Amino acid sequence: MITRSPRLLQRTDAVPANPIHRTESWQTQLSRAVRDPHELLERLGLDAAWLPGADAGHALFAVRVPEAYLRRIRLGDPADPLLRQVLPVTAETRTPPGFVTDPLAEAEHTPRRGLIHKYVGRVLLITSPACAINCRYCFRRHFPYAENSPSREQWQESLDYLRADTTIREAILSGGDPLASSDARLAWLVEELAAIPHLQRLRLHTRLPVVIPDRVDDALLDWLAATRLQTVMVLHINHPAEIDDAVIAACARLKDAGVTLLNQSVLLRGVNDDVAVLAELSEALFAAGILPYYLHVLDPVAGAAHFDVPDGEARALHRALRDRLAGFLLPRLVREIPGEASKTPL
Ligand code: SF4
Repeated sequence: MITRSPRLLQRTDAVPANPIHRTESWQTQLSRAVRDPHELLERLGLDAAWLPGADAGHALFAVRVPEAYLRRIRLGDPADPLLRQVLPVTAETRTPPGFVTDPLAEAEHTPRRGLIHKYVGRVLLITSPACAINCRYCFRRHFPYAENSPSREQWQESLDYLRADTTIREAILSGGDPLASSDARLAWLVEELAAIPHLQRLRLHTRLPVVIPDRVDDALLDWLAATRLQTVMVLHINHPAEIDDAVIAACARLKDAGVTLLNQSVLLRGVNDDVAVLAELSEALFAAGILPYYLHVLDPVAGAAHFDVPDGEARALHRALRDRLAGFLLPRLVREIPGEASKTPL
């Protein structure tokens, strides 16, 4: 769908802001996220005809939408690209061949509970089982977080693993969303990681500064700025309408703390499968100090097949994007293939 003409950033009819939102801590915002499909439809002025599908999808993967994200969604528009990322629909109950619960075969690369070692030199730690938002296309929507949520003792085992392997240069905190953890816990973990001499970099994969920008508070910035590790934050933004003033301000604070900001997006049918939307996204990211890094094709996870964009169409979109953008604004179009030593360019 390369030629569709989208509405970009015209969101004056979005959900009215919750008047107490700006005074609430990020923890309160996290705990008050909308978790009921009925409430989601009601808040967004959507027809009750969406309810059976929303209930069916919710039973498979629970609804979770924080207020700060909700208010960027247009009222009464079931095609809103932000809504489509969070509203469960009937299509989630259909699983075509090839769509599976563990599309990246992560279970085969888990030498310690909560630790995934797939790539040379990099190890991923499942830092928090929780997310601030539940994205319907998430490749970890079936991930057994209950078996991979380490206690502090289990962290020690993971830290021992990192200490023992001097080829590891980078620790990646992922989840869930690592920033759903408390700053006390994160500061402790990062201090332990920084004490491992061969580790050079800390990477965080997070959507929290996007969906609850107030997560970027003084407590977070304190430990980020203090670590000796070079710190990279890979944000996850799929559509330019996700970048509002609060997100821009949060990114500015992260950059001031010395954090390198990158973005990875997922190419999603009905969300950003449009060259104008993708170009606008790259421009908006760079204006916010974030480098467009990856555009992933969908991982074939059960329940998300309706978001899939075929490879040929993905390549055509990427070519059209290349013709519009400066090279440094062009994200790499990639797929993650289980067993490969790195992401595979399309
Ligand atoms: S924030 Fe990331 S890990 Fe969490 S549901 Fe969304 S895509 Fe999945």
